[in-house]
Amino acid sequence: MLAVAGKTGPEGDATAMGDRRIILANEMGYCWGVRRALEIIQDAGDVNNPVATIGDVIHNPQVVERLHSKGVDTATSVEEAANRGYKRVAITAHGAGPERKAEAEKFGLELIDTTCPLVTKVQRMANKLAKQGYTVVVYGDYYHPEVKGIMAWSGTSRIYPAKKIADLPWDAPRGSRKEGAKTPPRKVAIVSQTTKNTDEMLRFVAELTALVSPEGGEIRITNTICEPTFERQNALKQLAREADVILAIGGKKSSNTARLAEVGNLMGVPSYHIERAEDIDVAWLEGKDAVGITAGASTPDDVIQSVIDFLVGCGYPAPIGGLRQVDLEATPAY
Ligand code: SF4
Repeated sequence: MLAVAGKTGPEGDATAMGDRRIILANEMGYCWGVRRALEIIQDAGDVNNPVATIGDVIHNPQVVERLHSKGVDTATSVEEAANRGYKRVAITAHGAGPERKAEAEKFGLELIDTTCPLVTKVQRMANKLAKQGYTVVVYGDYYHPEVKGIMAWSGTSRIYPAKKIADLPWDAPRGSRKEGAKTPPRKVAIVSQTTKNTDEMLRFVAELTALVSPEGGEIRITNTICEPTFERQNALKQLAREADVILAIGGKKSSNTARLAEVGNLMGVPSYHIERAEDIDVAWLEGKDAVGITAGASTPDDVIQSVIDFLVGCGYPAPIGGLRQVDLEATPAY
């Protein structure tokens, strides 16, 4: 079982010895869906019959290395996995379109599905909305595997990924008489990539509503940002209120870790995205009493612990109670 950093109480977990302290974010590290996916894939791992995940199962090089030694590798496509001799492939927690199953069948490979159920919910929702006649907008990154999977499951071409209104094929509100105006259809629905920022999505929704609502336009909003994501966003806001500097721990390719550091900086606290303790520049700690620690959804506990150990070596007292063991029975709201 995986132990995960997490909740330590409403004020975070801090120990004061002098003024120096380490503050742990109330929620950080592996999210529920990543932990679940890792358990499934680790159980399936077999060095004599390795399984290839299509895309990185997790954006953390240390974990990828560990999985490799347990018979879990990575391929970029089902075809590549088949050509390299794998007999089993896996869908990652981000999910994939229905074509992935068909490809596995075509090449005679067993398919292991670790799609997070909270992502499956969005895929089904997009499909249902499309069947109900809505043109669907997916608030998210067009290149992200989760967004690609949602679009594929929707079963319609009337679906658009967008991060801003300019990404959509419409440039004027419904009812616009402007020559050449591209206006939205009457029924538009929106779902979100599960890891997006709630405040930013609400701003986007407000702009989209202004575009769609005139002249009897109907907009249907389904907030599909997952509970672990918004819990982390809230924990970061709390951390930024208390810390003098923030270390956001996660693989260099982890966009949610980069985002944690970005939000910390936007909130006025110098925040650094680090992959491991060795990345810390001690100059960042000069004159900083309260060091806040957060971690992306794919960062394992031992990496977080190594950063804490480094700070303890720099004279910061260890946080009381250390990293909390996660409640493995807890299931986020669907
Ligand atoms: Fe599931 Fe949310 Fe984690 Fe994505 S971020 S894997 S939807 S729990």
